[in-house]
Amino acid sequence: MKNLLDGIEEILLMGPGPSCVPPTVYEALAKPTLGHLDPYFLTIMDSIKSMLQGLLNTKNALTVPMSGTGSAGMEACFVNLVEPGDPVLILTNGVFGRRMQDVAGRLGARVEALEFDWGKPVDLDQTSDALKKGPFSIVAVVHAETSTGVRNPVAEIGSMLAGTDTIYLVDAVTSLGGIEVRMDDWRIDALYSGTQKCLSCPPGLAPLSFSERATAKLNARKSKVPNWYLDLSLITNYWNQNRVYHHTAPVNMLYALYEALRLVLEEGPQAAFARHREAHEALVAGLEGMGLSMLVEKPFRLPMLNTVRCPDGIDELSVRRRLRQEFKIEIGGGLGPLAGKIWRIGLMGHTARRENVDRFLQALQAVLP
Ligand SMILES: *Cc1c(COP(=O)(O)O)cnc(C)c1O
Repeated sequence: MKNLLDGIEEILLMGPGPSCVPPTVYEALAKPTLGHLDPYFLTIMDSIKSMLQGLLNTKNALTVPMSGTGSAGMEACFVNLVEPGDPVLILTNGVFGRRMQDVAGRLGARVEALEFDWGKPVDLDQTSDALKKGPFSIVAVVHAETSTGVRNPVAEIGSMLAGTDTIYLVDAVTSLGGIEVRMDDWRIDALYSGTQKCLSCPPGLAPLSFSERATAKLNARKSKVPNWYLDLSLITNYWNQNRVYHHTAPVNMLYALYEALRLVLEEGPQAAFARHREAHEALVAGLEGMGLSMLVEKPFRLPMLNTVRCPDGIDELSVRRRLRQEFKIEIGGGLGPLAGKIWRIGLMGHTARRENVDRFLQALQAVLP
């Protein structure tokens, strides 16, 4: 029988995720599978937890990788924190803010969405006005909006919530590992991320952290968490010293996350952020040198997700197809109102290196008329 796996090629992953995986993370995946309650595996779990706390700049005891991709992290945050009728304010300017609205709405939250143009950041004055219509039990925002390449002012929104009981929920799927995330300093109560963006691990886990305020809201629920698999009141009994079986942990994926976190901490988070910034600056200079224009204004650009306008008269999809077929490079297209209008070029984690930027720019030059 023909083995399809033999046909897998090395593709330079420069889209909106997954990103390139470092060799030692692949090696981690291939280590022998241990039992999910094996004493040696438990030491790896403890180390993952403390590395995550370090990278998130938090002391939160409830810090765990959820089984599932970034969206499972989103779902876990809302499903554990929302009770029917809770007023929830979602600040949205792209696909992932919209997804939050959908998730919170399905749980019976009274969702108020404050929408901003795609490609522009969340506006603080409008946010401040919207907050006056509260109190909201949850305010949610995406830190790095991967659909548009915009960095939202997460720290500033957090300071607006100082002195309130409001739970501040932040999507750090694309930001974690690529730009600073300071969970405690920014007053974030609930945060989720994903492995396949700037952590450069294959997709499959969603780091999550809850502050004491979020944990207290979870513990004070009147009704059970309506989703058994993502119920943090059960999952924490596996991740804390009780070690009570809930579901079989994805052991080898956790090895991979361990190695990915170890690599970021060994390089040093600040050095990793600088590497993202430098790759981004080289990419933007190259794109602008070719006469292309960026979608997002300079102060709000993400280093790990670059959105550039597709010039008039050029079929953006055929450019992406040729990059993939002739140059073995993957980039992303636009979503929603930006479909057909932009390319999304990822410089996430292990992808964020000068040699990749140069290879991509040369390929694009060859493909564009
Ligand atoms: C990728 C992404 C998600 C969803 O993660 P999946 O791993 O695709 O489920 C959520 N939020 C943001 C900002 C993302 O970039």
